[in-house]
Amino acid sequence: METIAPAVLIVDDVADNRRVLTRVLKGLDVRILEACSGPEALARAAEEPELCLVLLDVRMPGMDGYEVAEQLRRLSGSPSPAIIFMSAVESETDRYHKAYELGAVDFVTKPVSPPAVLGKVRVFLELFRQRRQLEVLVKQLDTLNRDLVHQTRRLQLTTETSHQITSILDIDQLLAAIVELLQQRFGYDCVGIWVADPPPPNTEYMTLQAGRYWTRHIQGPSAALRIPIDAPKSIIVHAWKTGRLYMTNDVTTDPHYRPYEKLTDIRAEVSVPLRFGEGMPIGVLDIQTRSDEPFSKGDVLALEALSNQIAVAIRNARLYAEVTRLNEELEAQVDKRTRQLQETLQRLELLERDKSDFIAIVSHELRTPLTLIRGFSQMLLEEPDILANPSWKRQVEGITNGAFRMQAIVDSMLDVAKLDSRTVQLQYQPTDLTELIKSVIHETEEALQKRSLILQIQDMQDLPQIEVDPAELRKVFNELLSNAIKFTPDGGKITITGQLLPHQRSDEDLYIEVVVSDTGIGIAPEVQDLIFSKFYRAGDVWLHSSGRTKFKGGGPGLGLALARGIVQAHGGHIWVESPGYDEVKLPGSKFHVVLPVYQA
Ligand code: ADP
Repeated sequence: METIAPAVLIVDDVADNRRVLTRVLKGLDVRILEACSGPEALARAAEEPELCLVLLDVRMPGMDGYEVAEQLRRLSGSPSPAIIFMSAVESETDRYHKAYELGAVDFVTKPVSPPAVLGKVRVFLELFRQRRQLEVLVKQLDTLNRDLVHQTRRLQLTTETSHQITSILDIDQLLAAIVELLQQRFGYDCVGIWVADPPPPNTEYMTLQAGRYWTRHIQGPSAALRIPIDAPKSIIVHAWKTGRLYMTNDVTTDPHYRPYEKLTDIRAEVSVPLRFGEGMPIGVLDIQTRSDEPFSKGDVLALEALSNQIAVAIRNARLYAEVTRLNEELEAQVDKRTRQLQETLQRLELLERDKSDFIAIVSHELRTPLTLIRGFSQMLLEEPDILANPSWKRQVEGITNGAFRMQAIVDSMLDVAKLDSRTVQLQYQPTDLTELIKSVIHETEEALQKRSLILQIQDMQDLPQIEVDPAELRKVFNELLSNAIKFTPDGGKITITGQLLPHQRSDEDLYIEVVVSDTGIGIAPEVQDLIFSKFYRAGDVWLHSSGRTKFKGGGPGLGLALARGIVQAHGGHIWVESPGYDEVKLPGSKFHVVLPVYQA
């Protein structure tokens, strides 16, 4: 900026005096103005902004020097020029004092001594220069201060805005909030968030996802507002492609500016790429303004900081949307599977009921003809003719044995049917479990011998009496024992052990556990629960040979179902443990039966 030299005004009604002074001051870097009267002096002073000093004659016709000085003080704003009074008389003490009250003043006596005047003028000039420099400094400080306040406010807004936006997870809501905050808090005329559509690397357009211009709000992708990425002009596309902030404070001369008919009078535009990590930006934050004040450094800094936050927020919102979608899909799948499972369960229940009905009907229907067969075959065995003929006798004996075997099967079917229909009435009585088991063993002695199986009873002697229905419980151990015989090869070993389990809560809460172990073929883990269901038989059904004690002799698959039904009716549990099925290694099986000592 060009600075003009300060002015010195010489006021004297005598032209010679003015000339002398002009000459004295000639060497100084000042502009010298002259006035021959008070009014003229005031007029000159009024039109000179850089007036730094007035050399003022005291005695002048009309308006004297003091009056001129007073008027000058009133006329000029601050700072007013310094004044050096020139007077021939020295004894006007009162007026001197008055003059000093006016501010920066000094006195010289006439006739003036040039070096004295020059010295005083130099001092005032120096003072004036320093004051001017100070003023410039103050102005600069003021601007800096204002900038600082502005930037602090921006930063504060940025922080607040970042905070708000990073806490919203719905993408549409988030973008709408961002543009609204930016417009309202920063006072921009147009704010737009443009996204790469479709996302990089296949991007074809920049599409406005959320925007506000003036008071209009655009939410959701706007097909009408999209710019092909090969558009010849667009600051938005340019910023996205280069991945760098682009700013212009004069759109009229900018080579990339793309006018939009609805946004009139735009003066400045700034586009900030939105990105996280490497790769192409996911979009651009674009701001346009009609304001006379262009974007400041502070604006740019704030927008850059904000763009990072916006990108992170968009990424979070997208991830959240993705997780929500996956979650919903998962829930739908779970619902579907649950429905399928429920349907399967219903079908299974139906099937189970069918099985129960089948057992009930078949066992009832078979009972009468079976009784007839058994009765008549036994009668035949008493006929002398039959007894006399060994071949006939063998055949009738075969019929009787078959009928007995069938009777046993029908009996267990009936038992299962009764348990299913919950019509079985247990007759509890204190029972010696060891005796009960021994009597069951007694019935199997022949089979054990035939199959060369060793049977051992261990630790059963000290068991207390137990409240059970002995007839029903016999069936349980009968089934377990005949299974152990059937599935243990000749020469194997069967062990029955018993123990009183330590009580859980009170003396009444006592249980006895009986374990029937064998050294047989074992049971695969995956069928260990299934074998307790009705009609279940492990292995190939057609390979089984029939018989209650033959090795791997086949049965109807009802024994364990019946055993579990009876044990559960007593309030007990039954389960099997076996390392697996192996006809060579013979891992064996252990059937556990736990029964309460007292019935509630
Ligand atoms: P079943 O009345 O035909 O004997 P169960 O219900 O008693 O039927 O037994 C079901 C199936 O469980 C048998 O076919 C057999 O495969 C298996 N099983 C039962 N006990 C044993 C055991 N001690 N060792 C190996 N397998 C066994």
